[in-house]
Amino acid sequence: MTVFTHPEFDNHEHLSFYCDPDTGLRAIIAVHNTSRGPALGGCRMFPYASDEEALRDALRLSRGMTYKSALAGLNLGGGKSVIIGDPREHKSEALLEAMGRFINQLGGLYIAAEDSGTSVADLKVMGRQTAHVAGIAERLGFDGRPSTGDPSPATAYGTFVGLQAAVRHKLGRSDLEGVKVAIQGIGNVGYRLARHLKEAGAKLWVYDLHQDQMERAVDELGATAASADEILNLPVDVVAPCAMGAVLNDDSICRLQAPIVAGAANNQLASPRHDNALWNRGILYAPDFVINAGGIIDVYYERQGPDPQAVRRHVEAIGNTLDEIFARSANEGLPTGVIANQLAEERFKHTAR
Ligand code: NAD
Repeated sequence: MTVFTHPEFDNHEHLSFYCDPDTGLRAIIAVHNTSRGPALGGCRMFPYASDEEALRDALRLSRGMTYKSALAGLNLGGGKSVIIGDPREHKSEALLEAMGRFINQLGGLYIAAEDSGTSVADLKVMGRQTAHVAGIAERLGFDGRPSTGDPSPATAYGTFVGLQAAVRHKLGRSDLEGVKVAIQGIGNVGYRLARHLKEAGAKLWVYDLHQDQMERAVDELGATAASADEILNLPVDVVAPCAMGAVLNDDSICRLQAPIVAGAANNQLASPRHDNALWNRGILYAPDFVINAGGIIDVYYERQGPDPQAVRRHVEAIGNTLDEIFARSANEGLPTGVIANQLAEERFKHTAR
């Protein structure tokens, strides 16, 4: 296994490996960049087929967090941790506490949040051993309602604001009345996004793997049910991927009919070149790591002290960041993902704490 010559290595500041034979914990923490602040990022638990696969994920995802937080204007760096193991089989309180001790050894350089394979309850167990966990406190949400720490409402609201910015830029519309939106994935984020859109007068098409999720949107929000095959290809104004990654690929991009892609799912582009493919087709893509930053903004404010109005204002600034990205993309003739990366680098490469 290589590190400094690894394809995903990008001058990461710190990399730690940890093994606790008593609990079976094997984990990696990757800290990509802390020029803007401590590295906050999810702790993922997954049955990686090899150490190499786990390292790759830790390097790649920690770098992504640096870009996401910089673009969200947060004083945070980028980090990620991975636990090698099947969360359904290998997770135990003792293992999670051992992970807490591992995180604590870094003295606050890295702050863990929930991710796939870990829950808020798991983070609370880690929190018995370290103060460096986030997204676990019950507090007032950005909408003034009590929140358990679930970042989905803030993510959905940020995606809604970002979608409005995309519609303004591409369609020259300042409202969403009658704007047609197809949402793939009606889960925690997708359903809430659908509700915001409905309230703003948009017309909705939905698809979810789970029939009951889809029916809820049809019954409660008057959405039209679509099939798995058609949801990304409908003649709508906006396609909003809110399920899984890699949905923007060679196959789907040539069949898209919508002029805008703006949704919350992480890692929507199957590869970086698909940013260019969308650009070449004249489709406006709201980079996922910009539009879905509401969750990390929400988690950040948990550490600053509760201030629902400040969270709301900060989430709404996602629209301004996208305005800037869309304008620069048009002026410079470069895809939006390229511009978003450049803007992030301007923000974290020239910041000395
Ligand atoms: P979720 O698990 O609550 O919802 C995802 C939904 O997608 C589920 O209802 C699932 O049935 C559906 N789904 C899965 N595969 C599908 C497919 N092939 N076609 C259609 N539907 C499918 O997850 P979530 O919290 O709503 O997150 C949605 C996306 O947003 C994920 O990509 C996530 O990484 C990203 N995201 C979420 C947050 C957050 O705060 N929750 C923050 C940033 C990014």
